[in-house]
Amino acid sequence: RRKKIVEKCERLMDKPEQIRNIAIAAHIDHGKTTLTDNLLAGAGMISQEGAGHQRAMDTEEDEQERGITIDAANVSMTHEYEDTDYLINLIDTPGHVDFGGDVTRAMRAVDGALVVVDAVEGTMPQTETVLRQALREGVKPTLFINKVDRLINELQEGPEEMQERLQTVIREVNELVRGMDEEKYEEGWKVSVEDGTVAFGSALYNWAVSLPSMQETGINFGDIIELNREGEEGIAELRERSPLSNVVLDMVAEHFPNPLNAQPERVPTVWRGDDETQLAEDMRLVNKDGEVVFMVTDIGMDPHAGEIATGRLFSGTLEKGQELYVSGTAGKNRIQNVGIFMGGEREDVERVPAGNIASVTGLKDAIAGSTVSSVEMTPFESIEHISEPVITKSVEAKNMDDLPKLIETLRQVSKEDPTIQITINEDTGEHLISGQGELHLEVITQRIERNQGIPVTTGEPIVVYREQVQGGTETVEGISPNRHNRFYLTVEPLNDEIVEKVKLGDVSMDMPEQERREALQEAGMNKDTSQNVEHIHGTNILIDDTKGIQHLNETMELVIEGLEEALDDGPLAAEPVQGTLIRLNDARLHEDTIHRGPAQVIPAVRQAVHNALIHGHVKLLEPIQNVRIDVPNEHMGAASGEIQGRRGRVDDMYQEGDLMVVEGIAPVDEMIGFASDIRSATEGRASWNTENAGFKVMADNLQDEKIMEIRERKGMKLELPQAVDYF
Ligand code: GDP
Repeated sequence: RRKKIVEKCERLMDKPEQIRNIAIAAHIDHGKTTLTDNLLAGAGMISQEGAGHQRAMDTEEDEQERGITIDAANVSMTHEYEDTDYLINLIDTPGHVDFGGDVTRAMRAVDGALVVVDAVEGTMPQTETVLRQALREGVKPTLFINKVDRLINELQEGPEEMQERLQTVIREVNELVRGMDEEKYEEGWKVSVEDGTVAFGSALYNWAVSLPSMQETGINFGDIIELNREGEEGIAELRERSPLSNVVLDMVAEHFPNPLNAQPERVPTVWRGDDETQLAEDMRLVNKDGEVVFMVTDIGMDPHAGEIATGRLFSGTLEKGQELYVSGTAGKNRIQNVGIFMGGEREDVERVPAGNIASVTGLKDAIAGSTVSSVEMTPFESIEHISEPVITKSVEAKNMDDLPKLIETLRQVSKEDPTIQITINEDTGEHLISGQGELHLEVITQRIERNQGIPVTTGEPIVVYREQVQGGTETVEGISPNRHNRFYLTVEPLNDEIVEKVKLGDVSMDMPEQERREALQEAGMNKDTSQNVEHIHGTNILIDDTKGIQHLNETMELVIEGLEEALDDGPLAAEPVQGTLIRLNDARLHEDTIHRGPAQVIPAVRQAVHNALIHGHVKLLEPIQNVRIDVPNEHMGAASGEIQGRRGRVDDMYQEGDLMVVEGIAPVDEMIGFASDIRSATEGRASWNTENAGFKVMADNLQDEKIMEIRERKGMKLELPQAVDYF
C-alpha cells in the first residue's frame, strides 16, 4: 500500500498545478501536532489509531518527551478534491519562539501557511510571530480554529456565543494581517468564513467544518453543539459527516496557490539576483528542464545516510549523481540519493522535479539556508533570524576521549540550526554554544548527551551584551605602531529604522548599489552618506568619505579587518558593537607597502574606532524579553511578582477565558532560572512564554558594575577604558 502511495506522489510531482507546499504554524499547545497527525491519518499515511499518539512529526526523542515540536520535519500526502488528486507537501514548524529561525526557513520553502489558533485562548504572541514571518516571506495564510469542543463541553457555550467567539479570533487574525501588510490584506489575504479561508473544529476529536462543508453536509451550529453534547456517538457521527482531514485539505487545495502561481511572486521576494536572466525565468516558470536551484531549509542527520538536506526546488530536476554548487563554499557536492518524505520517513525516488519539497543526501557542505545549484548563482537572500543569540553556555566533554566526537557533534548542531553559534574560548579552550534562550541551549545539550552518548559538563548560562555609541563625535585619530600611518574618523549612532533594515537584510552589501542607496535614503540617511557605504558589519556601517588618498584602495581590506576587530570586541567589555556609523574622513599612508602591512594598519584602525566609540559615550546594552504568563486568578500576584522581582516591568494584566494574563518585559540576565521559580511560585499552574525583544541600554547605575563583572570573567584589566589609553 505504501508503495502505491509513493507511486501516486511520484506521478503528481510532475503536475505543479496539483501541488501545494504548505506549513502549519501555531502557538505552542494550540494543537498543531494533533492536527497534523489527523491529516496524515485521513490521507492514509499513518494508521487512524496511531493519530494523536504517534506524533508523526516529532522525530527526535526529546521532542516526544517534552511534547513540543522542535525540528521542522516534513511529510508529503495526497488528497482528492473535486475529482482531482493533489500532492500536499507539508513542512512542520516549531511551536516555541526559542526556535524562531526554523520557522523562517520553513516559511521560505512553502506557499501557504495554515495558522492554527486555540478557540479558547485566541491569538497569542507566537501566533503573531509566525504570521509575521509568513507575510514577510510572501506566504498566504488560512486559519484553522481548533479546540471548538472545549467551547461546547467546558464553557457550555450556545450557538451565538460560539459564533461570537470564532468571530473574535478571525478579527484578531485579520487585524494582525492588516497591521503587517495592508496591501496584501486588501488584495484578499484577509481570512474569512464567507471566502472559505477559515475552518474550525476539533483536532482531538477529528472533526472540522467550513462554510463550504456546512453547505455541502447541511450541518449547522446547533447540530454541532447537539452532537458534541451527545458524547461518543454524536461525535462519531459528526466525524463521519465532516471529517477533519477532508475539510482542512479541501481548504488547502482550494485556497493555497500552486507553485506555478506562487513562484512568479515569491522569487523576487526571496531572491535578489538579476531578474532578467534565463535562470530567473526558469525559477518563475517552475521549469523542470532548467538549471537546478534548490534552497535548503533544514539539515537532518541519518545514522546511515549522513546529512539529509531538505528544501524547496525552485527550478530543474534533482537526480542522483548530480554535481551541484553549494553557496558559501568553494567546491561541488555530489548527490547520493533523492527522496521525499512520507509520514515521518524518507522514501528514495528516481528524481524530483521543480516545484516540490525534496530531501537529498550527499550535500555534505550544505547548511540550513544554503542555495544549491547546477550553475554558480546569486544565493537566496540570507535568512534573517528575527532573534539574535542572547545567551551562551560552555560545554566540555567529561571524558577527554570524547573531545573529537563532541567537536564533530557541535559542528553538526550549528549546521542544522544556524541560530546556534559555536565558538571556542581561545584562552580556556572551552567550546561555547550561543542560542536564543535558556531552553534552546538546554535542548541542544540534552541532544548531545542523549543522542550522541557524550557525557558533558556545562557552565552557567552567560548573557550576551552589546555596546553602542550614544552620540556623535569630533574627528579622532588612530596611529600605527610605526607612526607612519594615521586614520581619522568619527562615529555616530544609526537611527532605528536603518538598523532594522540592516538586520532584516533589506540593506546589505550583496544588493545592487542603487537599490541599497535608495533603501538607506528612505530610512533617513542623507544622500551623500548613502553613496559612500564601503562596508557593513553586523548592524554597523562604514562610510568612506575620503577623496583621492594614495594607496587607500589597496589598503581597504586591512582597514576593514581592523574595523571588524574593533566592532567584534567593543571597548567597554569586548562585547559586540551595534547600530553604529563609522565615517572615515582622512588617512595618511606610508608610500611603501611593507610599512603599511597588517601589523600597522589593523591596530591603527582598531585604536581609532575604539577611541571614537569612547568619545561617543559608548554604553552597555542588555538583551530583554517579552514575558507573558497565563495563570489562575489566585496566583496572579505571585506571577506579576516574578516579573517585577527581576528588574522587570508589568505592562498589562487582563482576564482571558478563565485565566488571568500578565504581560511585561524583563532582562534576559534576570530570566535565568525563571522556569523553576515560576513553577514553585504558582504551584505549577502557570503557563508562560518569552520572546526576545532586542537590546536596551542598561540603567546608568548598573553600567560600571556589569562592565567590571564581564571584564573580570574575561580576564581583562579591571579598569574602565579611557580614550587616552589609546593614544
Ligand atoms: P502543539 O504544541 O501545537 O503541537 O499542540 P498539541 O497537538 O501537542 O496539543 C496540545 C494539547 O492540546 C494536547 O494535550 C492535545 O491533546 C490538546 N488538543 C489538541 N487539539 C485539541 C482539541 O481540538 N480539543 C481539545 N480539547 N484538546 C486538544
